[in-house]
This record gives sequence, structure tokens and C-alpha cells, in this order.
Amino acid sequence: MRAIQMTEHGGPDVLTPAELAPPEPSAEQVVVRVEAAGVNFIDTYQRTGLYPVDLPYVPGMEAAGVVEQVGAAVTEVSEGDRVAFAGSPGSYAERVAVAAAKVVPVPEAVDSRTAAALMLQGMTAHYLAYSAYRLAHGSSALVLAAAGGVGRLLVQLAKHVGATVLAATSSAEKAELARSAGADHVIRYRDADMVAAVREATDGEGVDVVYDSVGADTWETSLDCLRRRGMLILYGNASGPVPPIDPLVLNRKGSLYLTRPQLAHYIADRAELTWRAGELFELAAAGELEVRLDRSWPLAEAAEAHRYLEDGRTTGKLLLEP
Ligand code: NDP
Repeated sequence: MRAIQMTEHGGPDVLTPAELAPPEPSAEQVVVRVEAAGVNFIDTYQRTGLYPVDLPYVPGMEAAGVVEQVGAAVTEVSEGDRVAFAGSPGSYAERVAVAAAKVVPVPEAVDSRTAAALMLQGMTAHYLAYSAYRLAHGSSALVLAAAGGVGRLLVQLAKHVGATVLAATSSAEKAELARSAGADHVIRYRDADMVAAVREATDGEGVDVVYDSVGADTWETSLDCLRRRGMLILYGNASGPVPPIDPLVLNRKGSLYLTRPQLAHYIADRAELTWRAGELFELAAAGELEVRLDRSWPLAEAAEAHRYLEDGRTTGKLLLEP
């Protein structure tokens, strides 16, 4: 089968097309024929070596497709079911073996491209909005990179429960995308004073929670956008990893909370996984969640997809379609 394989860490060029033996499922696994594989920042972190993986490695942590083979002990799904998953490697390929416990059935009303878009980024937005911090009517949130894949879904989920959303993004085109997702205020954070803009929009108080996926360039400013006892959720490194932080900084700036979560810890339990995915599929099928597909490439052009993502050009989901 065709796949993308990396035999060393480095730039996008290490993502090379290869012909590999098709996977065989273990007793607890299914083999999925990939219809759409998601391209995510984690793939770039694994490619560069920021997040360690064993080589040779087939990247890709998310896909939607059809179950072609099931292991002897599998009870969750059957051959022929359309499914999706996140958090299991090897999806930059025509076929991938995945633990059955990690796949969720996709309802007919949701196509595979949308399903792939909702797994990693959608479930991340879901746990950020409803679990890492429990947004509710009257909460205030600042979402950075708000026009991006996770960001735009997060804005919509926050609005869904009645939170006030301040969205930060870099360009005029992206500002419009954040606005159309429902953001109440949009801040062009590369040009404007983000702290002043947040204070102005919140009667000088600051927001309850900041969702920061940009990391190195923004984390300090993000802390200054919080109200007393507010929470900074650092969940990505798009501009580079955040250096070690002195806990006394949290004390001085208002007894703040800081968390650095990852999706795996919010879908480890199958009931939690199916709850998050199920809610997202329902919202998308009902037209209450707009899932924006930005671009897709054939499998062989995975390197191009990584360049696009790392250039900060994304305005929605990036997919590889084998
Ligand atoms: P996005 O579509 O949000 O793309 C990244 C965005 O980050 C860009 O569009 C850009 O938005 C902004 N950005 C700022 N600085 C840079 C830079 N130097 N290089 C590139 N982009 C930059 O990507 P995703 O939605 O796929 O992922 C968003 C973040 O969420 C990533 O950091 C990822 O690691 C993280 N993530 C974390 C998870 C977790 O559980 N912890 C799970 C899934 C994703 P702008 O122009 O508006 O600044």
C-alpha cells in the first residue's frame, strides 16, 4: 500500500512516499481504509523531533474511513462500518491498523472529510471548552489563533453555551473568519496591544480563561489578559515551546491557574471519547457547528501540507486524501 514514511527527523522533505506492506490487525485492532487523513500540528512536532517517535515512522494521528478487517476480539465495530479516530499513529497511508477502542462510528449525515476534521481538532475544542475549563453562560474567554482549525471550532463551542468570546488572530481575512464563527470581539494581536484590547472589552477585569496555542510568542501576554484567579490553558506550540515558568509569576499576576493539557487525557476513557465525538457529530449534522475544510492534498504531497501549516496559512482543516 502507499504511505508516507519518515526515516529521519527534519523539515517537510523527510516526508517521503513509500510502498509498505498492508497492516494486519491484532485481536483488538481494526484495519481502516483511509478516506481522509487529518494534518495536524502534532504531525509537525513529531516530524521535527520536538515530540519523540521511533523511526521509521508513518505520521498522521487522525483519519476517517471504512473498516476493512476486524481482529478476533473486537466488539466495538464491524467490517464495512464508517469510522473515525484520533490519537493513533499511521494515518498518512491507504490503510492503518487502530485499536478498536479508539474508533468511533460516524453517522450517515456526516461525511468522512468532516468526520476527520472533527476528531483531533473538534475533540480538542470540546475538551477545552467543556472540561479543561467549564465554559457557561456569562463566562468570558480569549481564544488565540481563533481562525485556525481548533480555534474556529472552539469559538463556536464557546458561543454555543453562551460565553462571551474575544478572538485573537493575525490578518484581516482571518479576523472575518473568527467573526463569522460568532466571536464577540476580534483582536488583530500582531498589530494591536492585546492586553489593552482585552481590558477594554471586559471593563478592565480581564477574561476568565485564555486559550493559547501559539505558545512562545504569546504566553506572557496571555497571562496579563486574565482576571484575578483566571486560568491560562496553554495547549500548543505553534510559535515554539514555552520556556520554564516560575510559579511565583502566577501569584503576582492574580493567583492565576495554569494548565498544559493534551487530548489523550480527555478521551482515554471510551465513554468520554464517544460522548465528545457524538456531540460534535450531532452539532455538525444539525448545522449548528460549521466545520471549515481549508485544503486537501493527495497523500504524496504531505510535505506541501506541512509547509502550508507551518507557514501559519491555515483557515480550517487540512486533509490528505489517499
Ligand atoms: P491552526 O489552524 O490553528 O494553525 C496554527 C495557527 O497558529 C496559525 O494559523 C496562526 O494563526 C498561529 N500561529 C502563530 N504563530 C505561528 C507560527 N510561528 N507558525 C505557525 N502558526 C502560528 O492549527 P491547529 O488548529 O491544527 O492547531 C492549533 C494548535 O492546537 C497547535 O498549536 C496544536 O499543537 C494545538 N493542539 C493541541 C492539542 C492538545 O490537546 N494540547 C490537540 C490538538 C492541537 P494566526 O495567524 O491567527 O496567529
